[in-house]
Amino acid sequence: MTQVTTRPRGGRRPLGKVLPGDARRHHLALVLQQLFDDGPRSRADLARETGLTRVTVSDLVSELLTTGMVAELGHRPGVRQGKPATLVGLADTAPVVIALDLSGDGILRGALIDLHGGILTAEATALSAGETAVREVLDLARRLREGATRTVLGVGIGTPGIVDHNGSVLHAPNLGWSELGLAARVQDELGLPAHVGNDANLATTAESTFGAGDEAGLLLVTIGHGVGGGVLIDGRVLSGPLLSSGEIGHVVVDAEGPTCACGNRGCLETTLAVPALRRADAATELATAGQRLGSVLSPVVTTLGIADVVLYGPAELLDGHLLRATQDALAHQTLPFVAQQVHVRVVPLENELVLKGAAAYVRYREIGVV
Ligand SMILES: [Zn+2]
Repeated sequence: MTQVTTRPRGGRRPLGKVLPGDARRHHLALVLQQLFDDGPRSRADLARETGLTRVTVSDLVSELLTTGMVAELGHRPGVRQGKPATLVGLADTAPVVIALDLSGDGILRGALIDLHGGILTAEATALSAGETAVREVLDLARRLREGATRTVLGVGIGTPGIVDHNGSVLHAPNLGWSELGLAARVQDELGLPAHVGNDANLATTAESTFGAGDEAGLLLVTIGHGVGGGVLIDGRVLSGPLLSSGEIGHVVVDAEGPTCACGNRGCLETTLAVPALRRADAATELATAGQRLGSVLSPVVTTLGIADVVLYGPAELLDGHLLRATQDALAHQTLPFVAQQVHVRVVPLENELVLKGAAAYVRYREIGVV
């Protein structure tokens, strides 16, 4: 299997398997990764840093110049004698990504995002379920494409539920989807490459790639229409053999509790999802939800040895009684060595982690940059 990158900081990879690719594709990824990580540099710098020959690098840079991905940015200031080296860097004309986030409570978010995770335009619309939701996804993707003034690299979609490596949604009870070939459907209808990932896994990728996430270990819980989770260990988001890694929303915390969308009773999601939290605005109920969350997280944090725990959702609901109760539960239900080092923090929805993670996923799948 080909490694996408051999950069020394360790392979942070969004999701799934490394793409098979020819040597040229691999070499392009090496050059682009260097430019993303360390900014503009000369062809000679790139040759030295990637281990490729100068002839190969010049050839690759020519291709990237033609596609508008990189640009020549003038000469390095203050150079020594001789012909000054021309710097190449990522261009303002580089392609953009259409990103969609299906994790909201009845809301479908979409954005055009540049390859650095910058949101260029954003839009939100209603999100239903079933086939209607598929049409809403296609419509928003089309509208965003119409507004794009640069080439679109692909469509990235973050959805709740269990998603396979081909972008099929195997099971998403809140959306009424099962065995839905969403990536293939979007690709067919829009004629663009499409990649679909679990919303929480993509949010975890984004917090590690563009945010403050600990690349060595991160547990991120998404609290929206449902409750999901993503686990990142040693730079890699785990999917697990069942593809259901992180699905903590459906751990039963109250056997007598209300019926959940999944069919069980008293799942964590029935008290922690945003609709339930909005109904339960009393401090004690928010604290109970936080305490239950902490109890579900404690064995996970202990087992994996993770210190960075993120609650991603509406800050007005999470940042207060709920966060403190989660921290207290973790502190009392884990080994003191672990408890002293675990830090639970809230990342507000405004950070748009699912959208940015969807963009990072497309970037990785299409050009091999992590
Ligand atoms: Zn459930």
